[in-house]
Amino acid sequence: MKIVIVGCGIVGATLAYELSQNFAVQVLESRSSPAQESTGAALGLLMGVISQKVKGRAWQWRQEGLRYYQRLLPELAAINLPVLHNHQGLLKLVADPADLAKWQSLAEIRIQQGWPMEIWSAAQILDRCPFLEISDQTSAVYSPADWQIHPAQMTRALVQAAARQGAGFHWNTNVLQVTDGGVDTAMGFVAADRVIITAGLGSSLLTAKSEQPLELMPVLGQAIHYRLSGFPDFHPVVTSNDVHVVPLGGGEYWVGATVEFPVGTEVIPSAESFAELQSNAHKFFPALATAEILATWSGLRPRPVGRPAPVVERLGGYQNVIVAAGHYRNGVLLAPATAGIVQEFLGLE
Ligand SMILES: Cc1cc2nc3c(=O)[nH]c(=O)nc-3n(C[C@H](O)[C@H](O)[C@H](O)COP(=O)(O)OP(=O)(O)OC[C@H]3O[C@@H](n4cnc5c(N)ncnc54)[C@H](O)[C@@H]3O)c2cc1C
Repeated sequence: MKIVIVGCGIVGATLAYELSQNFAVQVLESRSSPAQESTGAALGLLMGVISQKVKGRAWQWRQEGLRYYQRLLPELAAINLPVLHNHQGLLKLVADPADLAKWQSLAEIRIQQGWPMEIWSAAQILDRCPFLEISDQTSAVYSPADWQIHPAQMTRALVQAAARQGAGFHWNTNVLQVTDGGVDTAMGFVAADRVIITAGLGSSLLTAKSEQPLELMPVLGQAIHYRLSGFPDFHPVVTSNDVHVVPLGGGEYWVGATVEFPVGTEVIPSAESFAELQSNAHKFFPALATAEILATWSGLRPRPVGRPAPVVERLGGYQNVIVAAGHYRNGVLLAPATAGIVQEFLGLE
């Protein structure tokens, strides 16, 4: 069976890696290299256990993501494709004591489900993470099983691994239209038995003529790359009020991300949102206030309109076209489960 995958972010690359183990896979990407859109802006947090989802598909998919990368990382390292990651867990600060009961009850559920989770007092937080600034009232949820991977490195590693399995990658190849027999590009028609649309925000245009067009809203996120001169040994990802500090090692940190909705048809990075992100991060991690800023960037998250994220289904009105898009804030975490569902559609599982 010949499969064409349209788009090479984390979702397309994961599918290319999995499907090229059994099929002839061609990936068509409009940009000149992988992970240039949403995936290239992502922080790569795998926030599964710490999420408030405790049952149903949302929880299953999160567990699948955590377990998949756990298996994949050594698999890729063994073929000389290491991916930067942080395995020291995730520490979520809870500033308001009124919120603590909710997290205590989640911790009980997670322990019953077989996932570790601890509640720390202010003294325990400062004992283990003395670089944080918190009030006496602050507590924290420590989730050792949640972690972080470098999304662009992971995507590039999957592309290389898939290519070694025989997948073909075609950069600068914009897909204009999908059909049941293949796809139209500016360079001509590419025939396929199955077409999978993993084009992120570009999926709207490609599904526009179907019986069920996928409407996606771009939700902007800004982030900052810092470098500090000294850095601690134990450093989980620290998150407070939806601001995440991600240690990359060697004193480097990513901090993100804002959540900015479009005004009218435009979504432009807001200076106020950026300033708020910085000031919130500096409040609980004051060393960042004097750290060097190496880079700042923004990206767009593909959010389905009026439907839960992500959308993984057969495209309405087509026999051979599957859409796997609209992963919004968790595309890195949910790419593995997405690949599993697509494989079910293909009759592989
Ligand atoms: C600031 C920020 C932080 C984030 N942090 C996290 C996080 O910590 N954890 C997490 O899980 N998720 C995070 N996300 C969300 C995550 O980035 C997305 O959900 C995920 O990257 C979506 O992946 P994708 O492959 O579907 O889309 P994309 O990465 O956007 O890839 C789609 C690809 O399709 C290509 N394409 C589009 N149209 C066409 C066409 N017509 N023909 C050919 N190619 C086409 C594009 O060029 C692009 O390369 C974050 C996002 C942002 C912006």
